[in-house]
Amino acid sequence: MARLKILKFGEPTLRKTARPVEEITPRIKMLIDDMIETMRHAGGCGLAAPQVGVLRRIAVIEVEEGTVYELINPKIIMYSGEQHEQEGCLSNPGEYGYTKRPMHVTVRAMNRDGETYELTGEGLLARAICHECDHLDGKLYIDVETDRA
Ligand code: ZN
Repeated sequence: MARLKILKFGEPTLRKTARPVEEITPRIKMLIDDMIETMRHAGGCGLAAPQVGVLRRIAVIEVEEGTVYELINPKIIMYSGEQHEQEGCLSNPGEYGYTKRPMHVTVRAMNRDGETYELTGEGLLARAICHECDHLDGKLYIDVETDRA
């Protein structure tokens, strides 16, 4: 496994739309492994492929230590409720801002074995799912509407 360089806010790649993964090749699996290592080393709870310069619809999330979710071609299929919390991003180290996010989110995605699964998250996990899915569309947390200053 290898640690990848995390792009910072201002890099044009972070504003681009990522392409779906059509086939889960060994290269894609290696990328996922590297993303997990990179996320952990940086002390984050989520990382999306565009943040490491790869415009593919892949994200990893680890809100609870030891439980890693791999999301390939994720799509949010349900959301409800509301939360206003501070959010940060590994591409914007040391900075935090309030965002308005749904309290509950269900996402449908593939794992590295190509199996489709659904993941429902609440609170921090719901935020992480939204945050990482946004990255795949070139959207950053600083774009997200907030009711607070
Ligand atoms: Zn981020």
